[in-house]
Amino acid sequence: MTSGPASPPAELPAEPPASPVTEPPATDGSASKQGDLSDHERHIAPHVMVYLFAFVPFVALFAAVPLAWGWGLSWLDVGLTAGFYVLTMLGVTVGFHRYFTHGAFRARRGLRIALGVAGSMAVQGPIRHWVADHRRHHLFADKEGDPHSPWAFGTSPAALVRGFWHAHMGWIFDRSLTNQQRFTPDLLADPDMRFVHRAFTWLTVLSLAAPPVIGGLVTWSWWGAVTAFFWASLVRVGLTHHVAWSTNSICHLVGERPWGARDRSTNVWLLAIPSMGESWHNLHHADPTSARHGVGRGQLDISARTIWLFEKLGWVSHVKWPTERRLGRLAARAAA
Ligand SMILES: [Zn+2]
Ligand SMILES: [Zn+2]
Repeated sequence: MTSGPASPPAELPAEPPASPVTEPPATDGSASKQGDLSDHERHIAPHVMVYLFAFVPFVALFAAVPLAWGWGLSWLDVGLTAGFYVLTMLGVTVGFHRYFTHGAFRARRGLRIALGVAGSMAVQGPIRHWVADHRRHHLFADKEGDPHSPWAFGTSPAALVRGFWHAHMGWIFDRSLTNQQRFTPDLLADPDMRFVHRAFTWLTVLSLAAPPVIGGLVTWSWWGAVTAFFWASLVRVGLTHHVAWSTNSICHLVGERPWGARDRSTNVWLLAIPSMGESWHNLHHADPTSARHGVGRGQLDISARTIWLFEKLGWVSHVKWPTERRLGRLAARAAA
């Protein structure tokens, strides 16, 4: 685990317009002191807490699998869980994130609607809430105004534990919603996306009801519906939530910063597969519109692969793939 070079904040070519918010008051240890990365990552306590919070619930879940196997879990449940996980996760990563938030490619209307529907079925909020929060996150990344920075409360161990909770899921309990007129005028102007946004409740019902309906019909039993609902609806939504939230918490706390973004985003290889490539988050903050986040050798990025496939099928165009020249510029900036 290394921190990035303590370089001065660099200018980002592909970021949203300059923030109207002036520099936050530079209280000691606040998230605004971007150049002062001193000793906050040396503390072992928050490091350990991050790993415990992130992985113990997963380990407990997987420990339950053999206990349930044969009576409360079947291959059909596993298949449904995996299928709905991939569908809804890609809806978020390819759809809500890389396409709707950052415009990493252009999509034909049918695919655009499908991505909006699949992303909504991840039950992470209606599309305009999700996109508005995330654009705001990039605009203020790790500074005052960022809806979910783990650095919001300072750099002491206690502040980082609190910050981890806030960044991971505490922030979603804040009732004040991000301004959609300001952050998502494009989605407000799009009739298809207005429909998808309004349909969020029904898409949530669909997302939770489809697995038990399939499980019940295939096994022709109520019990088959119950186990499919438990694993492929409840557990699956829980998994996608925590993996997506980990990008906000873990991928701004620990990991490598090879691309020297002006915030504290990191690359976390351990989450590359479950997050469908989103955990190459340091590159993403350095180059937000890039369709591919895992740009290094061996950096698996399933979302980028999916976009590549869509491009081959002719469903998307104008894909913003990373070029040697662009990566060279980013690398030079990171080394500066
Ligand atoms: Zn981020
Ligand atoms: Zn982003």
